[in-house]
Amino acid sequence: VPVLAVIGRPNVGKSTLVNRILGRREAVVEDIPGVTRDRVSYDAVWNGRAFTVVDTGGWDPDARGMAERIAAQAEIAIGLADATLFVVDATVGITDADEAVVKILRKSGKPVILAANKVDDERAEAEAYGLWNLGLGEPFPVSALHGRGSGDLLDAVLKALPEPPPEREQELGGPRRIAIVGRPNVGKSSLLNKLAGEERVVVDNVAGTTVDPVDELVDLGGRTWRFIDTAGIRKRVKEASGHEYYAWLRTSTAIERAELCVLVLDSSQSIAEQDMRILQEVREAGKALVIAFNKWDLVDDERRYYLDREIERDLVQVQWAPRVNITARTGWHIDRLVPALDKALEGWETRVSTGALNAFLGRIVAEHPHPVRSGKQPKILFGTQAQTSPPTFVLFTSGKLDQGYERFVERRLREEFGFAGTPIVLNVRPRE
Ligand code: GDP
Repeated sequence: VPVLAVIGRPNVGKSTLVNRILGRREAVVEDIPGVTRDRVSYDAVWNGRAFTVVDTGGWDPDARGMAERIAAQAEIAIGLADATLFVVDATVGITDADEAVVKILRKSGKPVILAANKVDDERAEAEAYGLWNLGLGEPFPVSALHGRGSGDLLDAVLKALPEPPPEREQELGGPRRIAIVGRPNVGKSSLLNKLAGEERVVVDNVAGTTVDPVDELVDLGGRTWRFIDTAGIRKRVKEASGHEYYAWLRTSTAIERAELCVLVLDSSQSIAEQDMRILQEVREAGKALVIAFNKWDLVDDERRYYLDREIERDLVQVQWAPRVNITARTGWHIDRLVPALDKALEGWETRVSTGALNAFLGRIVAEHPHPVRSGKQPKILFGTQAQTSPPTFVLFTSGKLDQGYERFVERRLREEFGFAGTPIVLNVRPRE
């Protein structure tokens, strides 16, 4: 899916515009300078075409070294994206802070769509025309708040984004897209180096697909795999130094683009908040998951004891994920990764026929009916698997199901049909 980065100074109405594009209220985030937000990328659809919107957040106009910071942000965003939506406040015009970004945008050679925001009525449109001077092409006057002009803007966005490859081609598979994720120093780059060895190929331009200079094609187990955003892993780019936000932006975008994520953990250390946050993101994005317990050479009996407890406590939600214990530094057990990847992808793409699903639902409901709630007993009337990747089930019921019962259904689905390595989405539709 092509990626659109949205950049602009605080208060130009970036978040409002992102919400316009998404057609929902979900992404409402204030432009609080310097704030690290949990989610930065969102799925959008316009005219039947899907793309990912990366909201790059605000920068701090009062911070020292602002120009560099803005430039760094813009560079990263532009580097990650297929096209950039540059948002300017038409009532304010261009500021010095914008100029640095404009330079980078011009230099990048990637498509730029220039949005002149806060053009709330026709009279204000004249203000937008001054922006022709930027040399970024036609400014699109919009009112993110009222929606004025947003249709034309989105048409322009679609035109700037690369056409997705025809569906058949995707089905027949290009290389599988894998993201190696994890917090700093867990051994991601060591793992990548061992996997890729000397034979790595840096992908700089695959015709007809997303142009992305940061993926690598790697041969493993006789097949080619595409590792996403390896530049972010190999080079500790500026962003990593002190600025967690940029690291998170990269991680989040990589997860979004991947089919499967390998979460690398440092087994010698306690499972941390940040590990859990990445896990959460992978689950929410609905990607296949393999967990690699790295630095296994440092695990002694005592650490093993505590690690088992931590796994029980922190990883219950992802009990289904295949796990491999590895030592990236020496390559020990690295060969176990490919079977785990295969297993996870298989689960991710498993499809259960409607017949088999309903026979199964009938059986488990008979075995273990829903508890009675205020005199009523919700029943599952019919179910169907609406999607794979990740497996998504729609259950039509006679009433709302308890959380506990939904978990029971999910657990039994896994016991019956496998689904290793994948989140399962249950979409319950109570008939009122
Ligand atoms: P990244 O930040 O996740 O890419 O982590 P690196 O690959 O740069 O590794 C961070 C540090 O951990 C380096 O000093 C590595 O040599 C070390 N390291 C990586 N994998 C292992 C391992 O399996 N065992 C041990 N003992 N150290 C490792």
